[in-house]
Amino acid sequence: MQFHLNGFRTGDPSLLGGPFLAQEQAARLPAEADVLIVGCGPAGLTLAAQLAAFADIHTVIVDQKPGPLQLGQADGVACRTMEMFEAFGFAHKVMEEAYWVNETTFWKPSSANRNHIARSGRVQDVEDGLSHMPHVILNQARVHDFYLEIMARSRRRLVPHYSRRLTELERAPDSVSDFPIAVSFERQDAGYTGEIETIRARYVVGCDGARSAVRQAIGLVLKGDSANHAWGVMDVLVVTDFPDIRFKALIQSADEGTVLIIPREGGYLVRLYVELDKLNPNERISSRNITIEQLIAAAQRIFRPYTLDVKEVAWWSVYDIGQRLTDRFDDLQPEEVATRLPRIFIAGDACHTHSPKAGQGMNVSMQDAFNIGWKLAAVLQGRSPANMLHTYSAERQAVAKELINFDREWAAMLSSGASNDPAAVQKYFVQHGRYTAGTATQYKPAPDKWSLTGEATHQSLATGLQIGMRFHSSPVVRISDGRHLQLGETLLADGRWRLLAFAGVDDTAQPGSPIAKLCQFLSDSPESPIKRFTPAGADVDSVVDVRAVFQQSHQLLDLTAMPGLLFPPKGCLGLRDYEKAFCALDAENQNIYAQRGISRAEGCLVVVRPDQYIAHVLPLNDTTAVAAFFDRFMLDA
Ligand SMILES: Cc1cc2nc3c(=O)[nH]c(=O)nc-3n(C[C@H](O)[C@H](O)[C@H](O)COP(=O)(O)OP(=O)(O)OC[C@H]3O[C@@H](n4cnc5c(N)ncnc54)[C@H](O)[C@@H]3O)c2cc1C
Repeated sequence: MQFHLNGFRTGDPSLLGGPFLAQEQAARLPAEADVLIVGCGPAGLTLAAQLAAFADIHTVIVDQKPGPLQLGQADGVACRTMEMFEAFGFAHKVMEEAYWVNETTFWKPSSANRNHIARSGRVQDVEDGLSHMPHVILNQARVHDFYLEIMARSRRRLVPHYSRRLTELERAPDSVSDFPIAVSFERQDAGYTGEIETIRARYVVGCDGARSAVRQAIGLVLKGDSANHAWGVMDVLVVTDFPDIRFKALIQSADEGTVLIIPREGGYLVRLYVELDKLNPNERISSRNITIEQLIAAAQRIFRPYTLDVKEVAWWSVYDIGQRLTDRFDDLQPEEVATRLPRIFIAGDACHTHSPKAGQGMNVSMQDAFNIGWKLAAVLQGRSPANMLHTYSAERQAVAKELINFDREWAAMLSSGASNDPAAVQKYFVQHGRYTAGTATQYKPAPDKWSLTGEATHQSLATGLQIGMRFHSSPVVRISDGRHLQLGETLLADGRWRLLAFAGVDDTAQPGSPIAKLCQFLSDSPESPIKRFTPAGADVDSVVDVRAVFQQSHQLLDLTAMPGLLFPPKGCLGLRDYEKAFCALDAENQNIYAQRGISRAEGCLVVVRPDQYIAHVLPLNDTTAVAAFFDRFMLDA
């Protein structure tokens, strides 16, 4: 964490200083907002936290609930999501508090007595090296808390407006107003009940869940199965002789159905997903009037011969959401894409719903928001043209489509109980580990001129850093102070693009070397994305952040002899930033060049998007391609 750039200050460095742009926390909604977010679930809060990083963007977030979520709902936090939490600065808190999913065990009917269960397998939950972050379990409400804290500490001191239900949303033509979307909310809080407030916004993002009013207002529908199998879920404190109660475990009994065990944070709490009957078409589980006693009894039958004594029920619910998806994630008709710009978006459960069994709902929803967040910021700050916003629906709808297909298969496997081969279930689980960890997402190059994903022409220069996939971190050592860290730690959720320059074998950034020439181009050329897109007076790394990695020992390199771009003067005092240059570690199994298949002979340049996805891999000397790539979607400052 870097601080004191603009002068020494005492106190908590994570509480952002400077002129506070505290938002109206008073009773009424403001009249206007740059971005209006509807819904304080994981999607809405990820987006709000991302936008709160920009002091000049006025964000308003609204929810119909009276206050923050207290308990229940989702709890699985995939490795990829943890990487994103690291970018927001709270992964360490989650790691401290959460349950870590290390192994998953599988149980099936015992061959000695098919009415009893027996362990049939045990697998490592996340394959080695998939991410530097663990797969963890933590209540969704705590994830919300961490985001709310970031928002409250931002310079805008962003806090949600609760107790407001969206009732109307209308978009006027863009020519009529800079704030063309009018949204009305009905207040739910005592003393104001029924009062209508209207706010006008430049952009609206509906993060308002599976029954999204924003989705309905823009005429989109969730298509697919509205419900299939129903599952009960309960967070309970139990006394049991079942040996795997602290492992994630899948139990498939002979005739009593399936239980998924998710151990929870704190060492005692456990979540049990219990299979209920298959529903009839159009039937909702709520109509069955399932009780918690029935749910516990169903779990106890599945656990036999083990006992399950439920001492306390912290939360329970029945859950019957099927696999459904909207055609688009914005307010355009397909025929309008070439002529109109999107202004209203939906994210999370508002555009895709699926079973909770693969633990994807919260994770994918947050990744939607991470995708749209930096794009909205870039457009609102005039760094990118508004047509970049087309890429949100294109990129995320494709991801959701894959998720729906995966979830349909996985849910069917789990729901068919003992009729399914437990070995096949285990195999499927292992095969799709990368997918459920959230690391398999790949954005494809689009034919559009504003495509954010480059072509794979030079992919061979870094075979383990796949274009379109998230930047897969590796350890490095910082030259200036010898600190070992993950290179991924430097990719913060601050809206900046990153140029990661990996030096070739003899390159120490000496004059005339490829790294020195690249830095010279970036510092001096009128074609340089830094020169073109950095506003006058802003720090040199405020739009495009350059970092370099070398192959020598850090003890042999002199940072101060390197190009100025690798220890640039910044801030009002012109202090040098000493955290731009790193070296690979010696040990082969820790070496970023070896781990990520980076050409040791030539090195390469990796372009990373503000949401940590790799946009391009290029030769260090292909400055023309660097310039042309950024020219696609950036505007001159
Ligand atoms: C009751 C419930 C139980 C769940 N259980 C599980 C589970 O066991 N496991 C699992 O993996 N996933 C579960 N999920 C799903 C998981 O919580 C979601 O996938 C995830 O929360 C999606 O995040 P989101 O931000 O898109 O939407 P949500 O978390 O649904 O957030 C939407 C927000 O929008 C607000 N909102 C809705 N309509 C309006 C309106 N008209 N005006 C203003 N605000 C509005 C809501 O109050 C809510 O806060 C559950 C969801 C629910 C609702």
